[in-house]
Amino acid sequence: MRFVTCLHKLLIALPFFLAPACSRAANFDIVVLGAKGGLEDGNLSAYFIRPITSDKGVLCDAGTILHGLKEATRTGAFDTHTLTSKTLSPEGEILHDRVTAYLISHAHLDHIAGLVAVSPDDVPKPILALPSVNAVLAEHVFNWQVWPNMSDRGPTPRLGLYHYQDLEPGRAVPLPQTPLQVQAYPLNHGGVESTAFLLISGSDALLYLGDTGPDTPQHSDNLHHLWQAIAPLVHQKHLHAILMECSYDNSQPTSHLYGHLTPHWVQKELQDLQTVAGTRLQGLPVIITHVKPTLKRQEDPAARIFEELNATNVTGVHFIMAHQSLHLRL
Ligand SMILES: [Zn+2]
Repeated sequence: MRFVTCLHKLLIALPFFLAPACSRAANFDIVVLGAKGGLEDGNLSAYFIRPITSDKGVLCDAGTILHGLKEATRTGAFDTHTLTSKTLSPEGEILHDRVTAYLISHAHLDHIAGLVAVSPDDVPKPILALPSVNAVLAEHVFNWQVWPNMSDRGPTPRLGLYHYQDLEPGRAVPLPQTPLQVQAYPLNHGGVESTAFLLISGSDALLYLGDTGPDTPQHSDNLHHLWQAIAPLVHQKHLHAILMECSYDNSQPTSHLYGHLTPHWVQKELQDLQTVAGTRLQGLPVIITHVKPTLKRQEDPAARIFEELNATNVTGVHFIMAHQSLHLRL
């Protein structure tokens, strides 16, 4: 336990020492509730992100919620929160009082399973997503067939706990009860529309990418457009970090990416961002998400991916592997 705590503190401290490309002090607090891209049902994509000036924030994707909150509480990732409820457990208080909205990148189960599971005991919140994503949730998830309709669209009766808020690409929208704003950018996840969320706090920003494949093999330009949109923030050193998927290691053939990235393609995309931004990305924290676990007897895929990323790190970014209960201030 003591080792875990020490390691945890070290992980929190690391980004400070490694001098990110951003010239400013830490502005965002991130707790990883779930980090993996499938298989591990208690550890699927979910990132609680808040400005450090506020104790309230948003969940970027919601693959694992309650188990992730329990693990993060147990390992001290929420020690910076003062929890005072006489009636709610610590994870209940975080869920009810600190998580004020859900940002859903796409409606694949590994990004929404925790939201569905926790909904009977949740409090009213908006679900902010691109229209295509909210449409899938309304039609195929909260539809009384797969799950009761906890939302305010789709088959009646509508219980109305969750309010779908459609996001218009590139248009900033305030996030409830926080000083944050969000801008959504469409991504191409093997033909499925996925989303990148730019979280803005004053002049500072953090970028979260849902699942995405690389532009070139998908014959798309979604990532290139995203890089163009955030280039001024990178140039002015106002972007604090990027959370970006890397589902497979480099042994995965480009013909079988299923709308995901490998270290090779992460580098290619970061190089494109660097070119578009016209400035070095040196030291910019890039948090790697959505590694696919394996059932094979082999080394941890995350270890291999981390090695491969650093072996060809031409942009000099600071790669950090996401894992459950990781707590970062960037
Ligand atoms: Zn996924």
